[in-house]
Amino acid sequence: MCGQSSALLFELMSEMFALIDGNSFYCSCERAFEPKLRGVPLVVLSNNDGCAIARTDEAKDLGVKMGDPWHIISKRPEMKAVQWRSSNYSLYGDMSRRVYELLLDAVPFVEPYSIDEMFMDYRGMPYDLTEYSAKIRETVLRVAKIPTCVGIGPTKTIAKLANKLAKKNRSGPGVLNLADPAHRASAYKDIALGEVWGMGRASVLKLEKSGVRTVADFVAMPSDHVRDLLTVVGLRTHAELRGTSCISLTGLSAAKKSLAVTRSFGKAVTTWTEMREAVASYATRAGEKLRQHGLQASAMQVFMHTNRFNGDAPYSGGLTVEIEPTANSFALIAAALRAARSVWRDGYRYQKAGVVLVDLYRASELPAQMFPTRDPAKSAKLMQAMDAINAREGRGSIRPAHVPVQASWAGRQRNVSPRYTTRVEEIMCARA
Ligand SMILES: [Mg+2]
Repeated sequence: MCGQSSALLFELMSEMFALIDGNSFYCSCERAFEPKLRGVPLVVLSNNDGCAIARTDEAKDLGVKMGDPWHIISKRPEMKAVQWRSSNYSLYGDMSRRVYELLLDAVPFVEPYSIDEMFMDYRGMPYDLTEYSAKIRETVLRVAKIPTCVGIGPTKTIAKLANKLAKKNRSGPGVLNLADPAHRASAYKDIALGEVWGMGRASVLKLEKSGVRTVADFVAMPSDHVRDLLTVVGLRTHAELRGTSCISLTGLSAAKKSLAVTRSFGKAVTTWTEMREAVASYATRAGEKLRQHGLQASAMQVFMHTNRFNGDAPYSGGLTVEIEPTANSFALIAAALRAARSVWRDGYRYQKAGVVLVDLYRASELPAQMFPTRDPAKSAKLMQAMDAINAREGRGSIRPAHVPVQASWAGRQRNVSPRYTTRVEEIMCARA
């Protein structure tokens, strides 16, 4: 009796994760509002309508690869049938938030890992996890119109792997539960090492050299041997695949050490006025992202370069500067513009620029500044007010004066769908 209840207690206390991932997420967001796109091949293109960054299964079957330049492959005859959309991040970000909120109704804790992937805390769930996951998928599909796959496991690495296998099996149930060690052991025999989360190309090559090809081979290796070959990062993956959880739910990806806003321009930037606008806009956006994560930055890199491939005179410059730890957009803009000014050289045709925030900390981890330039409380209040207005009225409704309403340098977006969910003037109309 005692043995049974302690086994039950163990089961309730031990970690269990699920990873839910939107299938062809950007494409699914487009399809949610344009039913005529369902069942037809569809791609979403990167900034500037450049490369395919999301593909439906139908488009994959026609041979569209991730990162294919659309202006080249669209000339192939078989691509006639492929529909395309410019990327619409306002829409995707908002759809991601909707999925997140639906998941929060189903589980106590959700950790977004990327725009379309979220870890769920399944610890102590009194349900059949496979059935429960199927219900969650059904709800997300019905309410948010996003098809998903779910992987379940006692560690994040296993959940991620299970999700990948669930997705590969297109006609399958969309859920794979690898909580059971016996089930795992037999699945591992057919999985190549490259499929494992956190297993880099170099590690795979090293392991292959010593005859380790499948996940089953890898978990059979003694830990000491793994440490010698792959260092502690490899050892962590090894332990995770064996069912010992080493990567816990944090509420924030612990790996978030930097945050970047970089864009190619729609047309070459040749004047400092345009570059100043662009850098200020990127710094503003970086500040918004920083605050969303409750972080502050204490260093920043600003870079700009010309197009290396079209015969323009080559120039590439960057500068990293330390800043007083902040999440204040105005402080970030000021620092970014100072750095940009010293990187800028007249007479070049710039193709791309970016602002990268590095050395990120949670505000609570930082020691208080002895002589802060800005009153921290006032600064936080101002930023909160700006973010609240922009969340309500749409991004850019209120912005620093350096940021233009309509930018001449902004990327091309010739086929962008309406921001159905975040702009009232772009809401879907029904005629009856
Ligand atoms: Mg996905």
